[in-house]
Amino acid sequence: MSSGSHHPNLETLAGRIEAGTGVKLAHCYQCGKCAAGCPVGDEMDLPPCQVFRLLQLGFPELDEKVLRSEGIWLCLACETCSSRCPQEVEIPKVMDFIRGEALKRGIAHPKSKDILSFHRAFLDSIEYTGRLYEVGLVADYKMRSRHLLKDVMLAPKMYLKGKLGLFPHLIKNRSGMKTLFKRTVGKG
Ligand code: SF4
Ligand code: SF4
Repeated sequence: MSSGSHHPNLETLAGRIEAGTGVKLAHCYQCGKCAAGCPVGDEMDLPPCQVFRLLQLGFPELDEKVLRSEGIWLCLACETCSSRCPQEVEIPKVMDFIRGEALKRGIAHPKSKDILSFHRAFLDSIEYTGRLYEVGLVADYKMRSRHLLKDVMLAPKMYLKGKLGLFPHLIKNRSGMKTLFKRTVGKG
């Protein structure tokens, strides 16, 4: 790791994250609160605190392990983690950056395509109706992914388990929802 310098070391993924998002991974002291509160933490191969630990070490092979992780694709950008983080680490921003980097390098986890399709369908469904209509969602998802629902592992499983119950408070507030969309899919 770079020491004594305020410039991020662009050789490491942590340094590129800092340059790209302003988030300093060195601020994370591994308290684990982020992973404990994450609604999809159980499903992640690398929960956020572990992602940060690996990146803090700054070895190319560990950076690559993070980039190839499946868990980074499960992040819902719900911000539960960052609101609990005593160091105010903006975790969803980091997850987003890592996903972009994994795609750029062509080493994104193979399940990323299905998960992206599901998220897009899920978010479009909420944006359009202000509520989640299950049937419309599944139909839209099938169209997008050209997969049968049974082939899709994680996201629908989470949905059925009710783990995505974090959205209803947003649904009451349409302008809040617009902000959510800008933040999560606004780039596209
Ligand atoms: S909550 Fe913050 S400080 Fe604690 S492990 Fe997660 S990112 Fe690090
Ligand atoms: S923003 Fe992502 S990592 Fe953080 S609690 Fe939500 S799903 Fe978990």
